[in-house]
Amino acid sequence: MIDYPITMKKSLISGIGVFSTRLIKMGERICFMEGREMNINEAIKRIKKGTQNNGDLLQIDNNMYMRMMELNRCVNHSCNPNSFIRGKNELITLKDILKEEEITYDYSTTMWEDKEELKNNFDEDVWTMNCSCGSQNCRKVIDQFYLLPNKLQKFYLENKFVPDFILKNHSKIKNNIQSK
Ligand SMILES: [Zn+2]
Repeated sequence: MIDYPITMKKSLISGIGVFSTRLIKMGERICFMEGREMNINEAIKRIKKGTQNNGDLLQIDNNMYMRMMELNRCVNHSCNPNSFIRGKNELITLKDILKEEEITYDYSTTMWEDKEELKNNFDEDVWTMNCSCGSQNCRKVIDQFYLLPNKLQKFYLENKFVPDFILKNHSKIKNNIQSK
């Protein structure tokens, strides 16, 4: 097991959180997010059966998810995060994180699903979560990346504080608009 500079303990945001065990410098990799990968159809089937909590799933590509191991799924969301997902599944600091600070990322930066399609599968909007992270800029809701305020999308994209598939999806949309 790789010795990551993080540990789990009670969080002020929600339940159990993940905390740094030392100063982690801006741009440093905190850990890899790991777990079993599955496609959206399997994920939906499992959620409907009650054998999968959708909050434990990390989207890693279009139609692809990862059932995160405990240390990873305990990383809480914040609307004012101190880390982000890079590439496919690397958790990277976006600022210096002091020892014993809680590690957070913005879950919306890893969410890109067609909401209409999800509606066909679920009566309720299970993919949308309420937020009570306590940040000054709390959006109160955690939803798809493309539904974030434009300014925030731009901030995340320009700094590349998003995983590869979000960059890819966004550039596809941009090209479509330009070719019209
Ligand atoms: Zn929030």
